[in-house]
Amino acid sequence: MKRRAFIQLLVAASLAPAEALATIPQFDGGGSKKLVRPAGNDQIAVDEDDVATDSDHNNAGQQRQGQEPQRDNATADSGHSNATTSGDTLVNEENIKDYLSKIRAPNTPHHDDIYASAQDVQTLRQVADRFRRIVARVGDANFCVMGFDETLDFAKTTAKVEPFAKDEIDLMVQLFARNARDYGFYGEKPVTSLSAVINQHDIYKVPYSGNFLFRGKSLEKFIRIRKDLGENLILTSGIRSVVKQFYLFINKALRFDGNLSLASRSLAPPGYSYHATGDFDVGQRGFGPGNFTEDFIGTPIYKRLSKEGYVQYRYGRDNLLGVRFEPWHIKL
Ligand SMILES: [Zn+2]
Repeated sequence: MKRRAFIQLLVAASLAPAEALATIPQFDGGGSKKLVRPAGNDQIAVDEDDVATDSDHNNAGQQRQGQEPQRDNATADSGHSNATTSGDTLVNEENIKDYLSKIRAPNTPHHDDIYASAQDVQTLRQVADRFRRIVARVGDANFCVMGFDETLDFAKTTAKVEPFAKDEIDLMVQLFARNARDYGFYGEKPVTSLSAVINQHDIYKVPYSGNFLFRGKSLEKFIRIRKDLGENLILTSGIRSVVKQFYLFINKALRFDGNLSLASRSLAPPGYSYHATGDFDVGQRGFGPGNFTEDFIGTPIYKRLSKEGYVQYRYGRDNLLGVRFEPWHIKL
């Protein structure tokens, strides 16, 4: 398989994995297939006879073994911050296995992961701390639906939060504007404005869940599933505004030394999450944090979800978007 083809595959994948393979001639039915997509699954697999035969200068997947973490000093740069034209890296079985190893072990730092700069890490800590203080005052559920401007205003007018500093706001603006492919997330960006607002009239707080859902299709789908599967089906995460996504994404990155790539393997970067537009997460009552692990597949609720046809992955196993497998995520 040619390197370029693999890159095209990843780029096309941002539209939809199903179409991704078809956009590349050697996967459209003719010739020998090097990546395969089993019917009815978002999975890709590698043929054993995959042989690299060509090269180009695109750099995604570049091997960087033995290097220090790549500190990122150009957060605002939406170009390819890790681009280099030195040498031609072939896409071969190793590259593909390398890619899969990342999303199969999302919390393991990887040799080509992109990190926030030391200074940005410091600023992100301040941002996370300010978010924490806001959550303590408005509550988890309300924080999930706060807009960016509203959050800045709240901080400004709340004594124990204090206004976001200019460098904190600038960094969030830069992070939001940045193309997440820079650090390995290949999904679409359903929210393109940092100032996007969630209208209070459009949402409904699901009792006992601590989460909101959008009225209409999203809420109807949850109610339908709940009716079919019963009380043991719980809503574990509903609407997440850009601000809430920032909070989760930043906290994840900070837990791993500012590793943006690692964070994006488990959490869509701000703006890239479909939780802002209607997707939601479900779980088995009483299963706790296990609901966000692959162990969820072993629960009676997952088995019912699967049997009743509700399982339609946004992030399937071995997907092409740079994201871990999320069997608990319900795509709208
Ligand atoms: Zn989700």
